[in-house]
Amino acid sequence: MPSAPIRVTVWGENVHEHKNETVKKIYPHGMHNVIADGLREVLGDRVVVKTATLDLPEHGLPPEVLDNTDVLTWWGHAAHGKVEDAVVERVHKRVLAGMGLLVLHSGHYSKIFKKLMGTGCGLKWREAGERERLWCVNPGHPIADGLGEYFELPHTEMYGEFFDIPQPDELVFISWFEGGEVFRSGCTWQRGKGRVFYFRPGHETFPIYYDANVRRVIANGVQWAAPTQGSPYALAAPNIKTPLSPIQSSHVADESLHEHQRKG
Ligand code: ZN
Repeated sequence: MPSAPIRVTVWGENVHEHKNETVKKIYPHGMHNVIADGLREVLGDRVVVKTATLDLPEHGLPPEVLDNTDVLTWWGHAAHGKVEDAVVERVHKRVLAGMGLLVLHSGHYSKIFKKLMGTGCGLKWREAGERERLWCVNPGHPIADGLGEYFELPHTEMYGEFFDIPQPDELVFISWFEGGEVFRSGCTWQRGKGRVFYFRPGHETFPIYYDANVRRVIANGVQWAAPTQGSPYALAAPNIKTPLSPIQSSHVADESLHEHQRKG
């Protein structure tokens, strides 16, 4: 019996597509729709893809949407600060509870990525339309499935090290740029029960999300980040007064030390 399709929500800031003529020409219906089409193209009926944008109420991510999302993809650049903290909090909780999250390109500076990483998330950058070569450094990883030893993008914005992230659990791609810099372009982390994948390419003035290899990586990332059943995961800190087996100790707990936990 085929397993249920992965429910994906593609979130796009959708700001520069309306303001910048170059971006409008490349992505007339918004980057989110092109990313969503790429997923449908590669994964077919293995996914059900919906989109959400900043301008919608609750940025299109009310509880009923997130509760029915297995993997969320995030692209933002100009309006990270306009994303409401309550929505960021909601996404964060869903990731800890098991929802997968793909953070794309300039999403490195989004509130949700910084909250999940706990570091500054800064990097070097240059927009000179230079060539990028993405080397796969983890060929057995599911995110590298179907790709070659490397692939190239002819014109990109450069992102360079140092990238201020916590040490990735797994590194899948390293980029080399024509101008000389290198960058950890494909990184994974586990946060709670959720899987997080950061993938670098995607500057809005280049047609990156039409590229077959980029589409393949994002599709692989969605499949990799989809939740598995796992074991129970508590988001709270319950006091287990009754032990599973008898404890031989005459210790008497000073309940006053734990007062704040009972209230909170
Ligand atoms: Zn960019």
